[in-house]
Amino acid sequence: MPTPIATALNCADDFDPEAVPVEEARRRILAGLEPLSGFQRVALREGLGRVLAEAVVSPSEVPAHTNSAMDGYALCGADLPTEGLVELVLVGEALAGHPFSGAVGRGACVRIMTGAPIPLGTDTVVMQEQAEVSGGGVRIGTGHQPGQNVRRAGEDIALGAEVLVPGRVLTPADLGLLASLSIAEVAVRRRPRVAFFSTGDELRSIGQPLGEGEVYDSNRYTLFGMLARVGVEVLDLGVVSDDPPRLAEALCRAAADADVVITSGGVSVGEADYIKDLLASLGTMSFWKIAMKPGRPLVFGRIGGSLFFGLPGNPVAVMVTFYQFVQPALRFLMTGAVEAPFLVEAISRARMRKRPGRTEFQRGILARGPDGRLEVDLTGKQGSGVLRSMSLADCFILLPAEQGDVDIGGRVLVQPFLGLV
Ligand code: AMP
Ligand code: MG
Repeated sequence: MPTPIATALNCADDFDPEAVPVEEARRRILAGLEPLSGFQRVALREGLGRVLAEAVVSPSEVPAHTNSAMDGYALCGADLPTEGLVELVLVGEALAGHPFSGAVGRGACVRIMTGAPIPLGTDTVVMQEQAEVSGGGVRIGTGHQPGQNVRRAGEDIALGAEVLVPGRVLTPADLGLLASLSIAEVAVRRRPRVAFFSTGDELRSIGQPLGEGEVYDSNRYTLFGMLARVGVEVLDLGVVSDDPPRLAEALCRAAADADVVITSGGVSVGEADYIKDLLASLGTMSFWKIAMKPGRPLVFGRIGGSLFFGLPGNPVAVMVTFYQFVQPALRFLMTGAVEAPFLVEAISRARMRKRPGRTEFQRGILARGPDGRLEVDLTGKQGSGVLRSMSLADCFILLPAEQGDVDIGGRVLVQPFLGLV
C-alpha cells in the first residue's frame, strides 16, 4: 500500500524522528560526568564564587556571648512585676565592646546597649521605651517575659555545626558567615580549564576589513563572556579555518591543555562541516540532532581525558546550546550538583508562530502587567543569526516541543536570565 503523502513528507510540523528531546540530551550529557577533583586553599575574599571543597564545621558559637538584642535595661527575670510597677536600682552600664564587670543582684538593673554581653545575674532585657527612669531608679511595669530580648550564645550557630556543605558556591553572605567564625581561608575546588575556538573560513577578527561573504567572529566573544560568568579558567584559541588537519591539530592541543573543549561552527551537514568526523577519529563521539530551535546539531564526546562540545555556528544557537547543555555540565563538574532550569510562568504579549516538533527558545523581555502578573514580549526577529535578539532579551521563552502557535494572552514558560547568564 502506498504511504499517504502527508506521512511520507511529514512537513506539516517540525517533527524529526532522529532528533533527541532537549531534556534527554541534557540527561545523557550529565550521565557520563564526574565532578572534578583537586582543590586549593585561598584567602576568604578569593573564595567568592568558588566552590567549597570541604564542609565548614563551626569552630565556635555564634553569637559567642549571650548579649542584648535591644537598647534598654538588663535585669533578673524574677524581678519582673506580676502587677503594678517595680523600681530597680541602676548599678551600671554595658555597651557593645564594654561589658559590665561584676554581678547584678536582685532588685538591681544595668543600662545595656544592643550587642553588649548580658551581665552576670541578669537574663532579661526591657526596652528603654518601656522603662521609666527617675533618679537612680528604673521603673518597669507588667507585660514582660523572663528571658526576652536576649540573644543566647550559640543560638545562630552551635559549636561543631556544619555551616556550609561541599559543592557550595560561595556567596557574599557565606564570606560574612565564615568571617563571623574567624575563618581566614577556605578550601575550594580547582576550576575547570575550558579551551575554545571558532571555526570557519568566513570569520574575520575585530579590526580586519570584511571581504564579500565574510563575518566578524562574534562567537569568540559570547563564549568568552559566558565561560567567564560560569567561573571557569578560559583558554581562547582564536579562529581555526575549515581545514581538517588544522582543526585536528587545534582539537588535540586544546584537549591536552583543558578539561573541556568547545568549538563553534562546522557541525551541520554542509561541505565544510568537519568537526563530527574529526571527533569520531580523534576520540569518541555522540552526535545529536536535538529537537530544538535554534541549535539543532550538537556534537558531544571526549578527546583523550577532555570533554568535547561542538556547538553550532549561528550566534544565537551558540548561546542557547551553551546555556542549555554546556553550562549545566560545567556546573556539574564544578559542584557535583544537577541544577534544574529555573522556569516561571508568564502571559504572552505577542502572538508566536510555532510548529509542533521542537522545543523553541525564543528571546523575550519580561514586564509586569497592570494586574501585577508577569508578562513577556518577543525581542523582535528570532532568526538564529540575530544576535541582537539575545542582547535585548532578559529571558528565554521556552515553548515545549508539542506546543503549537501561542496567542496573545496565552501562558508560556520563561527562563529568566537573572542567575542564568
Ligand atoms: P556553520 O555551522 O559553521 O555552517 O555556521 C553557521 C552560520 O553561523 C554561518 O552563517 C556562519 O557564518 C555563522 N558563524 C559560524 N561561526 C561564527 C562565529 N564565530 N561568529 C559569527 N558567526 C559565525
Ligand atoms: Mg562553518
